[in-house]
Amino acid sequence: AIAEAQFLPGEILLDRPQQHYLSRVLRLKEGDRFIAMDGQGQWWLAQLSPNPEFATVLESIPVQTELPVPVRLILALPKNGWDEVVRQTTELGVTTLVPVLSDRTVLNPSPNKLDRWRRIAREAAEQSERQIIPTILDLVTFRDYLALPEKPPNRYICVTRTEAPHLLAQVLASQQSPAGLQLGPLEIAVGPEGGWTPAEEEQAIASGFQPVSLGSRILRAVTAPAVALSLVAAALEI
Ligand code: SAM
Repeated sequence: AIAEAQFLPGEILLDRPQQHYLSRVLRLKEGDRFIAMDGQGQWWLAQLSPNPEFATVLESIPVQTELPVPVRLILALPKNGWDEVVRQTTELGVTTLVPVLSDRTVLNPSPNKLDRWRRIAREAAEQSERQIIPTILDLVTFRDYLALPEKPPNRYICVTRTEAPHLLAQVLASQQSPAGLQLGPLEIAVGPEGGWTPAEEEQAIASGFQPVSLGSRILRAVTAPAVALSLVAAALEI
């Protein structure tokens, strides 16, 4: 599959890396077929044209590999392991990743890092046969993020210290009725190695985030996002 090709009526315009991937890596020739993703969640069967810059769109391919609702993960940057976090959360179905600088963040990555993470997300989305490539937003401080005017419902902050927080798995399960899914898009915030500060937790709760637990054990900052997404999938993909 090639990700997010540019679709023209009846045709696909292939950029140079895509041409290279199809002809050199996959060793496809004129007339050979492959799957192209249009970036809107739809897959298409396509055929290489005599002109290697183009392919012909043959038919759409029905697929459903996305989680039932969009999931936005707000992640305080751990010092190490962000490549792995991007890869794993893409495999597990995240829709949007928001890297945030928190009070205890020790890393301030260069713009090159963001490009790298977007590349990793693209590769992982292809490997997992996702319909979309997750969006990785530009870096922002957690406090600025919380101050944004939009305060969507279904916001959860993973905390380890708050007294008896609800389990994320239970909260999600309780939101569903026998008649079907009640939940809309989800936002889940995961803290850095040192955890959120009490002030951050308070501000998040004031911004509509419900404190939740991922279980009795403390997970590493690079493990917690994958666990949170797995719980979402377990609760919603039934
Ligand atoms: N000493 C830190 C603390 O007390 O919060 C541990 C932070 S933990 C390594 C990194 C982040 O992962 C936390 O800020 C939290 O968002 C998430 N996390 C890890 N284990 C968790 C759990 N059992 N329940 C909820 N969140 C958890």
